[in-house]
Amino acid sequence: MTTTAFVSLGSNLGDRQVHLQRGLAALRATRGIGRVESSQIYETDPVGPPPQGPYLNAVAQVQTELSPRALLERLLEIEAAEGRARRGVRNEARTLDLDLLLFGDCCIDEEELTVPHPRMQERAFVLEPLCELAPERVDPRSGETIAELAARVRDPAAVRPWSGE
Ligand code: ADP
Ligand code: MG
Repeated sequence: MTTTAFVSLGSNLGDRQVHLQRGLAALRATRGIGRVESSQIYETDPVGPPPQGPYLNAVAQVQTELSPRALLERLLEIEAAEGRARRGVRNEARTLDLDLLLFGDCCIDEEELTVPHPRMQERAFVLEPLCELAPERVDPRSGETIAELAARVRDPAAVRPWSGE
């Protein structure tokens, strides 16, 4: 059985575009992940503190046979392969951040995994690219569509389509 899941990608350290591209390539190369479709890339203002440079963000739609937990483990593995270092500082700069946003219609509340992603609703840098891929999809917690959620946080000054350096 395959499930449609959505994964956010973000980078604001090193060659940001390369980190996103390698993240997507690693998802595509994963056993148990089939089709992977990406939104365009957006440049977004960082949500700090600590002070840091702007992000590149995108969202990927993936077809997968993996369980939600196995998919999360794979995301953490791909982050580590891109040199992600965790020092336990919240919102610090990172080479690659991969978050599991939605997994079919599942609601999961485990210590290590919350789906839908708990901060998705307030993040224009997640909702804008997600809305490009799946505006009609319903957030299983609120019952609202992604388009409705995105309209509420839309901030064109902070989330801008990116066309390269
Ligand atoms: P953030 O993405 O909020 O800046 P991290 O990337 O450092 O923070 O994630 C910390 C932990 O959050 C991960 O180790 C993971 O266990 C947990 N987590 C819980 N739910 C999710 C989710 N939906 N997607 C990604 N990580 C999650
Ligand atoms: Mg994360």
